[in-house]
Order: sequence, then C-alpha cells, then structure tokens
Amino acid sequence: MNKHKGVIIAVSAPSGTGKTTIVKKILKVFPELVFSVSATTRQKRENEIDGVDYFFITENDFRKKIDKGEFVEWEKFYDYYYGTYKSFIENNIEQGKSVIVEIDVNGALELKRIYPESILIFIYPPSFQELENRLRKRNTEDESDYKKRIERAKMELSLKHKFDYLIENKDLEKAYLETKNLISKIISKENN
Ligand code: 5GP
Repeated sequence: MNKHKGVIIAVSAPSGTGKTTIVKKILKVFPELVFSVSATTRQKRENEIDGVDYFFITENDFRKKIDKGEFVEWEKFYDYYYGTYKSFIENNIEQGKSVIVEIDVNGALELKRIYPESILIFIYPPSFQELENRLRKRNTEDESDYKKRIERAKMELSLKHKFDYLIENKDLEKAYLETKNLISKIISKENN
C-alpha cells in the first residue's frame, strides 16, 4: 500500500517566547500529531516528566548515542546537549503520522536540510525587551544561564527569516490560535 508519509513540523522560538505552552496546547487538539521527545543532558525542571518532556540522560550516554548515529540532529548549548531521535521521526512519518518537534533554530534548519519537505514555524516575541522580561520572570535558571539564553535569543532572532512561517507572540492565546490554524492547514493539505 502506498501510504502518505507524515509531515515534520518544527517549532522554534527563543526561550521565554511561550513555545512550550503553545506546543502543549496544540498536542491536545490534534491527537493525530505526535511529539518528538528529545534527549537532553540538562537538569529536569520541577514541572517536567522524564520520557514525556525530554529523556533526561547523562552526558556519557548522550555521547554514546551520537557515536551510534541515534540522533538526526543534535546541538550543544548552555553547556547541555539536546538531540532529536532519528528512529522516532522516521518510524512515525513512514507510518503516515505527523511529528511536531520543538527545537532550537539551528536544529530546525538542520532538519530542513535532511528532510526538505519539513515545515518550519518560528514564534517570536513582540520586542527584545519583552523577551528579557519574560525570561526574568520565569526564573528557572541561574543568572549565568539567563545571560546565555539572552545571547542565544539574539542569534536565533537573526535567523527567523529562514523559517517557512512566522508567528508573533504578543498575546499567548492569539499566537496559539494562529499556530493551530496553520497546523490544521498543513495537516489537511498533507492528507489530500
Ligand atoms: P530548554 O532547556 O528551555 O527546554 O530548551 C532549550 C532549547 O533547546 C530550546 O530552544 C528547545 O527548543 C531546544 N531543543 C529541545 N530539544 C531539542 C533537540 O532535540 N534538538 C535541538 N537542536 N534543540 C532542542
């Protein structure tokens, strides 16, 4: 049987732009969409669940997985590693299931290089000042992590023009609805 392949949808945004909240809400309304759970070596945050938000693994294990070619892409930033499992992506799209990947900008561009048909969505804050305020409020990281995230956000924002779709998060609910409409169009197009 010649089944349609699923689509890969990558959602990127600088930290503190509401990306995780938007992706979680999206997953609730699209049961046909599967979330790609990445591996990371950073510490688990209080509200996170191992195997659901990330697979929290040691640096040693992460390196072994790199050597075995288990990641379709991986990145090291803020002193931590993050990687997308190749088998997860491929098994799902082969079965016709669409996969949503929450990933940094470089990872998204790498995915597009490997899977040119993937769709890249970038969520951006209304201003840089607003992003700084949100990161301060979130306060899940220490000061040096905060500074690294701000520096990284600058780099990520400078690459947003490389994405297929841009969504401004001035108001979380509006940004969510816009993302939801967009994903709905992407999925229905793939199924026709
Ligand atoms: P956080 O530590 O805030 O959960 O994530 C930090 C950054 O890593 C975010 O931009 C997030 O999207 C990104 N990220 C999460 N998983 C992956 C992955 O598998 N690959 C890459 N390249 N980035 C990831």
